[in-house]
Amino acid sequence: MPAINKLLVANRGEIALRIMRTAREMGIQTVAIYSEADRNALHVRYADEAVCVGPAPSAESYLRADAIIEVCRQLNVDAIHPGYGFLSENAHFARMVREAGLIFVGPSPEAIEVMGDKLAAKSAVATYNIPMVPGTPSAITDRSEAKIISAQIGYPILIKASAGGGGKGMRIVANDAEFDEQMDRAVSEAVSAFGDGSVFIEKYVTSPRHIEIQVLGDQHGNIIHLFERECSVQRRHQKVVEEAPSSILKPEIREAMGQAAVNVARACGYYGAGTVEFIVNDQLDFYFLEMNTRLQVEHPVTEQITGVDLVRQMIYIAEGRPLTIRQEDLQIKGHAIEVRVYAEDPTNNFLPDVGTLDTYVRPQGNGVRVDDGFEQGMSIPIYYDPMIAKLVTYADTRTEAIQKMIRAIDEYQISGVQTTLPFGRFVMDHDAFRSGQFDTGFVSKYFMPRVDSTGLLTTDQPTSTENEVAAVLAAWLLDQTRPTTNGAPVQETQPKSKWKANRQSFS
Ligand code: ADP
Ligand code: ADP
Ligand code: MG
Repeated sequence: MPAINKLLVANRGEIALRIMRTAREMGIQTVAIYSEADRNALHVRYADEAVCVGPAPSAESYLRADAIIEVCRQLNVDAIHPGYGFLSENAHFARMVREAGLIFVGPSPEAIEVMGDKLAAKSAVATYNIPMVPGTPSAITDRSEAKIISAQIGYPILIKASAGGGGKGMRIVANDAEFDEQMDRAVSEAVSAFGDGSVFIEKYVTSPRHIEIQVLGDQHGNIIHLFERECSVQRRHQKVVEEAPSSILKPEIREAMGQAAVNVARACGYYGAGTVEFIVNDQLDFYFLEMNTRLQVEHPVTEQITGVDLVRQMIYIAEGRPLTIRQEDLQIKGHAIEVRVYAEDPTNNFLPDVGTLDTYVRPQGNGVRVDDGFEQGMSIPIYYDPMIAKLVTYADTRTEAIQKMIRAIDEYQISGVQTTLPFGRFVMDHDAFRSGQFDTGFVSKYFMPRVDSTGLLTTDQPTSTENEVAAVLAAWLLDQTRPTTNGAPVQETQPKSKWKANRQSFS
């Protein structure tokens, strides 16, 4: 069995640190890479060795597959952990790593390829009896046919980019009259974000919840699931607050979803850590959305309720060891919640905010975990994802985890940039969240109406016009897309790249 003695982490920020911490616990030497903008970053200081791989833009540094592999050769690295974002779901990179005789801490390039394309993924799992949202099985080539299918499925429908990710390239169509316009937008968004204009149609599930299952598979065909994470609090189809377990799942449905997720993983011969995403309606019917073939941003909530270090397991699996955790050994203990702390202004449509962390004091204490990559005085580079930290609390019950989150948010001191912390506080205080009765419309339904015209966050109770306001704001929200710093050229080595934008959004 090839042991990993030296690991290069092809990432930055909190996730690079999080991976290196486990490596260090396992006695594995760590190598960081960094861009010129990250010279003083914490992950660079933490690593045993660190190498600058290029200028600030990701395409010239963190996405430089060739340069990263060259660092491995020079420093005698055995394995590469890609983290999330950047090269983590790039099948071509995974192949290059393999061909260079290195270990990729993740799934096979083949699995990445199949699951990286939503349509290919759906067809791969087709024989496994996985429930799916009604929709077109292949990319749309004929519009009039697509309109007929949409009418059959029943409006509203969703046009989605097959190569999509990060909530981009998705358009809701309310009726036949809107079809052409939304189609044009979806295609042009898909082309500019993913370099691939293939789109398909799905029934738009109203008031859905996003619930995903964490899986682990080894290279010997063993696959287990580590229960669910609820990620329904989203802005721009991107997660901001996550928790485990979900407040609505019943044991039978959890079991069925877990089984379905294991089957999805089996369908592509999956090994490593992965996440199978489902959308769940108010009847608790669940439908397969996609599989993310990497460590997910929100993985800590699963670690807290299962006691499993997912990065440690990923490393063992990459070394070829069989899983030692059996499904029946796993149980859910307690409740964990994560609030993503982004440098964004929640009162200004969650637009990224740049600046320096003039004050930065983390909360501490029992049941609080902060995964971050910053210190007081550091600036948030404009080139990358604007996430500062993940604030996680865990306790025996959901109520206590919420109470701890409120305490931790109040303790967190950040000045110099706007953050999503006040939004997190709003969610924790809100009856819909507290009672567990919420869906992916939480932000447009409850939060946007509270942000008054002066941009201040008001905390008064909902008004009777709330629904109208919500409808208008929902439409408005859907029209907004996160501005990107530029359309940095996608590296040649990744033809079907998801990484057009310099500033990435992670999930
Ligand atoms: P991405 O690759 O961008 O993550 P997903 O398919 O995972 O795309 O969808 C992202 C989010 O968009 C989901 O979490 C959900 O909020 C919303 N969404 C996706 N598909 C549907 C659908 N058919 N109906 C309603 N909402 C959907
Ligand atoms: P999720 O459903 O968890 O959001 P996705 O499949 O949407 O995962 O995205 C996969 C990864 O690619 C995530 O890390 C996401 O943030 C990143 N990503 C997707 N599209 C883009 C993009 N256009 N620019 C930057 N990062 C992206
Ligand atoms: Mg997704």
